[in-house]
Amino acid sequence: MSGILIVAEHEGGSFKKSATELLGKATQLAAALGTSVSAVVLGDAPAADLGKYGATTVYQVGGDFSSYDPAAMTDALAAAIAQAQPDVVLAPASYAGKDAIPRLAARLDTGMATECTDLRAEGGAVVGRRPLFAGKLYGDVKISGKPAIFTVRANSFSQPAAGGGAASVVAVAAEAKALTKVLERKAPSSTVADLTEADRIVSGGRSLKTAGDFDAVIRPLAASIGATVGASRAAVDAGMAHHNEQVGQTGKTVNPTLYIAMGISGAIQHLAGMRTSKVIVAVNKDPEAPIFEHATYGLVADLFEVAPKLQAAFEKALS
Ligand SMILES: Cc1cc2nc3c(=O)[nH]c(=O)nc-3n(C[C@H](O)[C@H](O)[C@H](O)COP(=O)(O)OP(=O)(O)OC[C@H]3O[C@@H](n4cnc5c(N)ncnc54)[C@H](O)[C@@H]3O)c2cc1C
Repeated sequence: MSGILIVAEHEGGSFKKSATELLGKATQLAAALGTSVSAVVLGDAPAADLGKYGATTVYQVGGDFSSYDPAAMTDALAAAIAQAQPDVVLAPASYAGKDAIPRLAARLDTGMATECTDLRAEGGAVVGRRPLFAGKLYGDVKISGKPAIFTVRANSFSQPAAGGGAASVVAVAAEAKALTKVLERKAPSSTVADLTEADRIVSGGRSLKTAGDFDAVIRPLAASIGATVGASRAAVDAGMAHHNEQVGQTGKTVNPTLYIAMGISGAIQHLAGMRTSKVIVAVNKDPEAPIFEHATYGLVADLFEVAPKLQAAFEKALS
């Protein structure tokens, strides 16, 4: 093996937690495979710092990548890979990962496995485990092309402890041509993590009935544990929540440590977006609701009675 390269995303120079999460896993895989770990960083970020999490070399592509452009990202990553010559590339299944990484695989004429939730070393190669058929099955994927590319869902691996020294930084010159021009940026007002990266999510369903109830019950409950708010499509279609809060097949795919489903039936299209959550708590007044088949903890109760009690308990526990 000539190494595992991870794509380290950053926001305004601060590495996203996916970068360290992937480095932690890559370090374990590299130890099992007897190889090394490197990273690629696009634009201005403290690349040498990634050495603390196991990267021996960081390939840094100069230029302004602050506005995402799939063509520019593909050009830049292809140039870094040409220099690094890795056997395996790991990238987050982020928006950019879902869009640019398949283009990269096509450019390099290699194979990729998307949305992996686990990776392991086997027979001298990396094998990715990914959900299939809306999460009903898992498939193990081994890629014969080189580099083997895997995108990984957020929160699939624990964060590694920092240690070790600085990585050596190799500058990569790439002709990265953006095909789009960003005219305006509107930052979200919320300070909590985006749903796709959130570690805790509290979601509400149609049962909330009005946007006022959703705001009065779900949002403060989520805030009490620093969780991001999610919603079923029924709640979104009824105008109770924003479309970018929708979880599911036609919404966002999430992978938090804790997913609390308040008054959500557990339709297959909703499950498709959240069933890999590590702990699922469901509150539903119907004991036959399908969500209970997937819940780690289930409570047959009226959410309007339960939510304030849960919120008070969370606030007390975290105060
Ligand atoms: C092509 C397609 C794509 C779709 N994509 C998505 C998607 O991305 N995401 C998604 O979520 N859905 C999606 N859907 C819709 C999906 O099929 C369901 O209709 C939807 O998930 C139902 O939302 P819900 O659970 O909030 O509502 P319901 O199915 O109406 O369930 C409400 C639940 O709340 C319970 N309840 C009611 N009152 C209370 C109370 N006071 N206390 C506690 N429990 C209570 C009820 O027992 C019930 O189980 C899609 C559908 C299609 C056809």
